[in-house]
Amino acid sequence: MPSLKVPLVDLRAQYMTLKGEILRAFEEVLDSMQLFLGPRTQAFEEQFAAFCGCRYGVGNSSGTEALALALRACDIGPGDEVITVSNTFIATVEAIAQVGATPVFVDVDPETYLMDWRQLERVVTPRTRALLPVHLYGHAVEMGPVMEFARSHNLRVIEDASQAHGATYQGQRVGSFGDIACFSLYFSKNIGAFGEAGICTTNDAELAAKMRMLRDHGSRVKYHHDLIGGNWRMDELQAAALLVKLPHLERWNEARQVHARAYTEQLRDVVEAVPVERPWGTHVFCYYVVQVPQRDRFREALEQEGIGTNIHYPIPIHLQPCCARYGYQRGSLPVTEAAAERIVSLPMYPELTPEQRQMVIDAVKRNVSLLAAQA
Ligand SMILES: *Cc1c(COP(=O)(O)O)cnc(C)c1O
Repeated sequence: MPSLKVPLVDLRAQYMTLKGEILRAFEEVLDSMQLFLGPRTQAFEEQFAAFCGCRYGVGNSSGTEALALALRACDIGPGDEVITVSNTFIATVEAIAQVGATPVFVDVDPETYLMDWRQLERVVTPRTRALLPVHLYGHAVEMGPVMEFARSHNLRVIEDASQAHGATYQGQRVGSFGDIACFSLYFSKNIGAFGEAGICTTNDAELAAKMRMLRDHGSRVKYHHDLIGGNWRMDELQAAALLVKLPHLERWNEARQVHARAYTEQLRDVVEAVPVERPWGTHVFCYYVVQVPQRDRFREALEQEGIGTNIHYPIPIHLQPCCARYGYQRGSLPVTEAAAERIVSLPMYPELTPEQRQMVIDAVKRNVSLLAAQA
């Protein structure tokens, strides 16, 4: 396939701006031959935790494993229920299943596509142990009522902040609300490694210590295993690259916000829905998600013009074959299901040029009216 004029994300563009520094950082790691959980992992943990306004960071091997590590550290397992959303990436639910617990879904707010806390009361049971809100697309979940609900029902809160590095709720960065927050550092997130990486943040010293043990075979001292853990260590090469990138994260998020404002200004009256930014939050636009009618034909038309799009996500998790055992059906979560039919993500990355952005806007306008005329 010919390369797109405006891809959904352009990882190379960002790499080129930091190439020299990143290669030097890699060289230092390779010269030291300290390849995992070394000084760079520790420095990244400290700096990323500080970025989130949090005390501890525990680097690990991916966002998926970060979630499983957090659930394990909270002793959540078989027989326990964890309330989350179906409008998310599969990893959120995989982590719950991985530790043997049962995911319970609530529907989402039709405007933000995020956990609707008003529905928590309906699904909570004596087996509920934790809430797992997902700050999807770069927008924070309404954490005030979520935390309130958790306190009144004595539940743990684990945030999935994999798409929201730097997003705020009432001026406070996500990652510092729950007992633990989990961030993916996958290459296409707001900050990403050049391979797999993730990090957990917490203000709880005990949970931090437990996660540090669990990620490295349940041991504090080599060959002494207090807990059944696993290998979810952070790789020092990834930490080195992440340390180079972290100082740029705020600026990158601001660039995303500038693109989003331009998109919204010009597309508000063109598409059926532009992203909503609640007054209590700062959106960091991991994805810029709009709603259009005839979504699939719209995507094809944009592709023809060299513009990449994607759907986050086309099939809600409760309708995935792997989740059949949980007993949900079409109709169980109407807001999530309706959104999945209409949402589409437009190109979004900090290095998007004003010209590329305008190409996207013009193509969206043209194709929305073309498709409407054909309908
Ligand atoms: C990316 C992502 C994950 C998983 O992260 P990996 O690093 O790819 O394992 C989990 N949850 C959400 C919401 C994500 O976007």
